Amino acid sequence: MATTTTRPQTADSPQVKRYNRIQRWLSLSDTVIGFALLVVLLVTGWTGKLRDWSYLGAHQYYFAAVFLYVLMFSIIAKLLSSPFDAFGFRLERQYHLSNQKLRSWLWDECKGWLLSLVLMTIMVEIVYSIIRMAPQRWWIIAWAVFIGLFLLMAQLAPVVLMPIFYKFEPLDNDTLRERLTKLGERAGTRIRGVYEWKLSEKSNKANAALTGLGSTRRIILADTLLEKYSDDEIEAVLAHELGHHVHKHILKGILTQVAITFFGFWLINVVLRFVLAKEWFPVLQTRLYDFANLPLIALVATILGLLLMPALNALSRFHERQADRYAWENTPAVEPFITAMQKLADQNLAEREPAKWIEFLFHSHPSIGKRVKAAEDWASQHRVEQPV
Ligand SMILES: [Zn+2]
Repeated sequence: MATTTTRPQTADSPQVKRYNRIQRWLSLSDTVIGFALLVVLLVTGWTGKLRDWSYLGAHQYYFAAVFLYVLMFSIIAKLLSSPFDAFGFRLERQYHLSNQKLRSWLWDECKGWLLSLVLMTIMVEIVYSIIRMAPQRWWIIAWAVFIGLFLLMAQLAPVVLMPIFYKFEPLDNDTLRERLTKLGERAGTRIRGVYEWKLSEKSNKANAALTGLGSTRRIILADTLLEKYSDDEIEAVLAHELGHHVHKHILKGILTQVAITFFGFWLINVVLRFVLAKEWFPVLQTRLYDFANLPLIALVATILGLLLMPALNALSRFHERQADRYAWENTPAVEPFITAMQKLADQNLAEREPAKWIEFLFHSHPSIGKRVKAAEDWASQHRVEQPV
């Protein structure tokens, strides 16, 4: 007999469709603008002007000049993308997905820009000093150093990077903690911490994630989720995150990055040498460590990233399906998972049925429609094994 479940509408409302369409246009425009900036800097030769000013400002001192170049580049890029960022902020408020005040948002923007400047400076200084020291083998050394940086970032993310924008507190809910411990025991694993993520100060969307590496590994649950979801539903979400942990998805993600960066650095080296030899951009000096070629490096990295995006998203969706399955297998019933998904879709204005090609290209998670359908199929196949 078919089960009858009362649940919200499954088709996407015009409002949801419109919101997601605008979001897509926004991120597409942002990408196009960033891309255009790199091309314009190279084609017009302005990157050479930026380099010359940097040397002037730095009194010909190489490392300071690299920093000035990165600083100017980062200011220009931020100025160009800020209209889109502002539009995005307005959009979230318009759709009641955010209650963040303008001042708080501006402060976040400043912090975000500063953080990206610091990270970019570190990466660029490292790359060019390696190029100067070992012009032949620079790309292998840079790759090895970047892996170290990845691991460090993954470890620091929950304790240093994310607290720049959000407050986190150890979860103060004995029932939930106990449920998680039980889930973990059954899985033969232990999660060191569950943290409440104070998302409600800025957003009305709900979210949860597994973050960190080694001693900083933890599950974070948004307070927006803790408030509005039943304990059974939260347990389903916890079980999903635990599934990511058990299946070692963070490690697998890092290993994927290791392989991609190896190829990426190799490709950058080949393209850089080819373009410099052909003198396509006369403003670039033939020396590899001329940091005016940074837009070219960034361009190769951007194009590679865009080309790999569908594959990386497919991998991510595969991981999500694994984590979902883990949740169904390790919780008493599948219904709380389904209602949690429905609530998430409503609360975050997520499309339940996005166009196939959109999901294929851009989505890191399977659509809610597919996740619910998969859960129902699984439940109908495993009904006998379900505890009463
Ligand atoms: Zn997940």
